Amino acid sequence: MVVHSGSEQVLAGLDPEQRSAVTAPAGPVCILAGAGTGKTRAITSRIAHRALSGEISPRHVLAVTFTARAAAEMRHRLTLLGAQGVQARTFHAAALRQVRYFAPRLLAGRAMPELLDSKVRLVTLAAARVGLRTDRAAARDLAGEIEWAKSSLVEPTDYVVAAARALRDTPHEPTKVADVFTAYEQLKRSNGVIDFEDMLRAAVWGIEEHPDVGEQIRSQYRHFVVDEYQDVNPLQQRLLDAWLAGRNDLTVVGDASQTIYSFTGATSAYLVDFPRRHRNATVVRLVRDYRSTPQVVGLANAVISQARGTEARLRLELSGQRPPGPEPDLRIFTDEPAEANAVAARCRSLIDAGTPAKEIAVLFRVNAQSEAYEKALTEAAVPYVVQGAERFFERTEVRQAMVALRAATRSIPGETPLPAAVVEALTAVGWAPDAPPAGGAARERWEALSALVQLAEEYAATPEVVPIGEAASVERPVTLTDFTEELARRAAQQHVPTVDGVTLASLHSAKGLEWDAVFLVGLAEGTLPTTYAKTVEQVEEERRLLYVGITRAREWLWLSYAAARSPGGRARRPSRFLPQLDRSGGTERATGGAGPARRPERRRTQIVSCRICGATLLAGPDRKLGRCPTCPSDIDDELHERLREWRQRVAGAQKVPAYVVFTDATLIALAERRPGRSEELIAIAGIGPRKLGLYGESVLALVAGAGVDDVCPEKTFEISS
Ligand code: ATP
Ligand code: MG
Repeated sequence: MVVHSGSEQVLAGLDPEQRSAVTAPAGPVCILAGAGTGKTRAITSRIAHRALSGEISPRHVLAVTFTARAAAEMRHRLTLLGAQGVQARTFHAAALRQVRYFAPRLLAGRAMPELLDSKVRLVTLAAARVGLRTDRAAARDLAGEIEWAKSSLVEPTDYVVAAARALRDTPHEPTKVADVFTAYEQLKRSNGVIDFEDMLRAAVWGIEEHPDVGEQIRSQYRHFVVDEYQDVNPLQQRLLDAWLAGRNDLTVVGDASQTIYSFTGATSAYLVDFPRRHRNATVVRLVRDYRSTPQVVGLANAVISQARGTEARLRLELSGQRPPGPEPDLRIFTDEPAEANAVAARCRSLIDAGTPAKEIAVLFRVNAQSEAYEKALTEAAVPYVVQGAERFFERTEVRQAMVALRAATRSIPGETPLPAAVVEALTAVGWAPDAPPAGGAARERWEALSALVQLAEEYAATPEVVPIGEAASVERPVTLTDFTEELARRAAQQHVPTVDGVTLASLHSAKGLEWDAVFLVGLAEGTLPTTYAKTVEQVEEERRLLYVGITRAREWLWLSYAAARSPGGRARRPSRFLPQLDRSGGTERATGGAGPARRPERRRTQIVSCRICGATLLAGPDRKLGRCPTCPSDIDDELHERLREWRQRVAGAQKVPAYVVFTDATLIALAERRPGRSEELIAIAGIGPRKLGLYGESVLALVAGAGVDDVCPEKTFEISS
């Protein structure tokens, strides 16, 4: 561990843009930094540099962020930089500390009200008061809605209008939600408790309404830093304004392209408007990506370049600083189990090749997608940890459903087809075929139970084989009892405690984190974007989620989806956010400017499958290869060498770069497939009629064993291109 002591040393290891952010004069500073550009490094270095040069005292700094983990990371880095004593906290922790400290003065001796750590219990009571019966999931959705309103500074009386304006997908009639909200506020007061938003408001009120408190806060905190500023909500911004009290020593860092929490009330508007609100602000842009390979960065740029809307205005094109790495893997599978199995197999091979399991992550849109991966990883003996969510079989609704299924083995006739029996049993615990609105707890519960229905369908498709004698066996349909035993077996396997494992996480909970290898799965329309993203803004937020996912990868990136949910199921389309993937298959565009321009999205793409594993290939280089880059190669090295030499000579004679003749991927495909006839040649992606005419004869001769000298008479090269 290197502990820098001087302010000059802090500047070492920073690039020029980072350095200008670090050395900007006192006053408003806005760092617009893309993913992986070293935002935390820049802001911690700025604090350390100012402290070590004697410009400020670390005791006067308040650095805020949004998760306890991020705050701890900030403190750690500040310590490494030699700037101890800085308060680095979440908004909540900072406010709570201040409210506790000033409570005796603010409350004139009365005890501080108890702080609710969850709204659910009181919301349930409030809902009952206004005639709404709610289960836990419905109460969680209502609590989430009230949280959104309070974070957005919306009072119960303004809720209906504000919800309509914000196009909220409300869990009940907006007027009903407003009633619950009102009742909840009353219940809180009569119970003498406050919630988290009240606590932030109390901090604002204390500072603004009590001159001595305000004065003390102002003399204690003089320099403010906010990380992930695109995630600030109006209530937190209100608190920040109270802290500042008109002063302007504020450094904010954010990336509008990573705004993915709008549904909770967060808004990038404060980041986007920062330079306008602070006319004299120093604005610094960081675009050098130190986290990911240029291949990963290229895909991230391609995805976000399609973004529209406010957040897109501040979009920055990242430039990858790391050495090149593998191309992102893009795959389509027939169904979800096949997708999960392939992911598990790839995890296995990465781990076998030396990547620590904890440096791998599988990221999905909704937590319910986790089950398929938990199962596949379990079967592949790959350890994993589920982040920010319970393991599938530990979820309350899944445990309840398993109890209900076991009970149903006694009440439902044994000959009932398994899927029907499971639907009947789950209907009894409140499951229905129609999905509740997305994004809420009711929806998550529904998805978890639906995953069980899907499992039953898959399981029913694999009849039990019963041995009846030495060499004979019969197939019998699986029963509900078989299914409950199967579930129990899976649950038991998943209970094995693991320390170091592959991370299974939702895209939302992956923000700010990084791994060597990242699998982005389930990238189908309806999942990403979710069918519930209806407005342009909601769809854009889904696009940013994919961007956040891509930019988590340091080196290996895998993107996949399954054409159907279960074997033989209804076909799905790939996520609309993936059009940048090379749909031309890498073949030359023979349009030549003649004729009307074809609409690219209308272009029919020939399906190219991996000749080793059968996966559909999307990326140009993979399509040329005719196999996934990770599938084993059966290349003829000697032929490959001759082809390379021949290509070099041809390119030299034509005075063009080698790849204009044939790309590396095409050469590898040739050396692997050894085409014997023109039809086989043209079947290789990357070889169109033009190149067949130019080089077909030579290549076939080389494959047949000819030497480079034999096929390189000068006249071959006299071609105008
Ligand atoms: P995100 O938007 O995902 O939160 P970030 O901008 O906060 O990303 P960091 O996590 O701070 O990025 O940095 C990404 C990685 O790049 C880290 O591993 C960090 O140590 C490294 N890094 C940052 N700046 C430099 C630099 N100038 N030279 C070398 N490595 C750097
Ligand atoms: Mg960060």
